[in-house]
Amino acid sequence: MASGIRLEKLRKSFGGNEVIKGIDLDIAPGEFVVLVGPSGCGKSTLLNLIAGLETVGSGDIFIGGDKVNKVPPRDRDIAMVFQSYALYPTKTVRDNVTFGMETRRVPKDDQAAALEEFARLLQIDHLLDRKPGQLSGGQRQRVAMGRALVRQPEVFLFDEPLSNLDAKLRIEMRTEIKKLHQRLGKTVVYVTHDQIEAMTLATRIAVMDNGHIRQFADPATIYENPVDMFVAGFMGSPP
Ligand code: ADP
Ligand code: MG
Repeated sequence: MASGIRLEKLRKSFGGNEVIKGIDLDIAPGEFVVLVGPSGCGKSTLLNLIAGLETVGSGDIFIGGDKVNKVPPRDRDIAMVFQSYALYPTKTVRDNVTFGMETRRVPKDDQAAALEEFARLLQIDHLLDRKPGQLSGGQRQRVAMGRALVRQPEVFLFDEPLSNLDAKLRIEMRTEIKKLHQRLGKTVVYVTHDQIEAMTLATRIAVMDNGHIRQFADPATIYENPVDMFVAGFMGSPP
């Protein structure tokens, strides 16, 4: 059973600079929400707030109905995948994937079973003894995904996970992410600036601008009935 996410009047400033300006958002369990918007509009900050990597300014964050404002990241039942793969260069793929699982008190047998299942699924099972430096970009991103998956969290946060990959690999990975979501049914919040990625992956798209969500709707509605010129210019069909 996946957890939903609810944001209420969420605000965040850095110094005097307000970056998240009162966001309300209700994400159902198992949804795949794609967050789009121009560079600097606050997308990564919003993910970091949900993950607990930034402290809340004001307002509330609920995950699975529980208020998590003060809950540390490791207790939030979330895994995050970043654009840069953030792998440990000196550890093997196997250790990169399972590193940190023990802090979540996953029994050894379950760790091994999860590693085997997801390594096969992501086609990295033949790479487990290599170091990240011996992998291609696409393989490294699969390892980063594997690390998120073995934790089997209720919520996945992706921050432009495919933007460092070439076009062919991006399409392959997009298809795999979609299949994984259909199979696992977890809640996903996914940042991208790729329109096609947004349209193919999202159950709903949130269009963000300057710390606000301008529109939150299914892809067809965003495309055919954008609420304003900004959304139309960013995601909609040409006038
Ligand atoms: P996006 O991911 O949409 O490109 P970000 O959330 O990274 O946007 O950044 C939103 C704004 O907040 C930017 O103006 C950025 O410079 C600022 N910002 C982000 N993180 C910090 C930080 N740790 N300290 C100060 N300013 C930050
Ligand atoms: Mg960002």
